[in-house]
Amino acid sequence: MRKTATRLADGREIIYYDEGDSVREEVPDLRDLPPAAPGSELRWDPLRREHVILAAHRQGRTHLPPSDECPLCPSRGDRLTEVPSSTYDVAVFENRFPALSGAEGRCEVVCFSSDHDTSLAELGAGRLRTVVDAWADRTEELSARPEVAQVYVFENRGPEIGVTLHHPHGQIYALPFVTPRTERDLDSARLHRAETGGDLFADILAAESAGPRVVLRNEHWTAFVPEAARWPVEVHVYPHRAVPDLPALDDGERTALAELYGDLLRRMDRLYDTPLPYMSACHQAPVNDPGLRELSRLRFELFSVRRAPGKLKYLAGTESGAGVFSNDVAPETTAQRLREV
Ligand SMILES: [Zn+2]
Repeated sequence: MRKTATRLADGREIIYYDEGDSVREEVPDLRDLPPAAPGSELRWDPLRREHVILAAHRQGRTHLPPSDECPLCPSRGDRLTEVPSSTYDVAVFENRFPALSGAEGRCEVVCFSSDHDTSLAELGAGRLRTVVDAWADRTEELSARPEVAQVYVFENRGPEIGVTLHHPHGQIYALPFVTPRTERDLDSARLHRAETGGDLFADILAAESAGPRVVLRNEHWTAFVPEAARWPVEVHVYPHRAVPDLPALDDGERTALAELYGDLLRRMDRLYDTPLPYMSACHQAPVNDPGLRELSRLRFELFSVRRAPGKLKYLAGTESGAGVFSNDVAPETTAQRLREV
């Protein structure tokens, strides 16, 4: 893989991750762009002890443009997009409408392909491996920034869950705080260690590996539906080795992740007659804290709001109001369906 970093017209950074060996020609961004959007504001909720990001400027962002106006397609002829080059394999750039910027962190867009009409599931293990390498490289670089406490890699797929651009892409948030979800997980891991002396993530993996909810497994990774799944489709993907984040994965683990992850996404797409809307969350250790990193484990959690053909699960009073989830689908049933499709 070859990496080329350059700048867009308004100063934002763009990084190309190319699979071939040919030298990338420098293509300038010829657009006349206004300065990058203003920063957002972080507010503190004293009851939940959590941050809320106020990003009012994002109301004006591009929303479901027709495919001939897609800002993530390569630039061709007179049609100039966010990606100045006429071709790319994987491209990462700073979001033009970031939820976080400046001293508060950074938001990046990861384009998985220059082909507007494909998806991560369809791209094959070779491209997925490039995506994994790009995720790891961005995590390493963003982790070194003084304002960053955690790097969160994620993908939203499908208009059903509010995706504003159809082009296959994911996002990365470099956050100035540790997410509430990670704080909670690490509290649990700490408590588990105090009570049992064991590693919570290793113990979950061992218990699930022996049970009926495994979906897929290879030498380095296991994908399973968790015992107390909250969502109609929910799959967790754990590495067998205790690693804190993506940069810590070795060559074999990265290739095995690309293979298993693609297989899993294709199975999820085969569950219903239309591609599954899903969210994928990559949980990584907080940076710069050896104690927390030792307690953490890299893992992916994928989930969908689709509970039946044409039907979505909405977060209602119990879930949104009280944080109490109810799931109409047995996790064992979901695991079996995913194994069989
Ligand atoms: Zn596109």
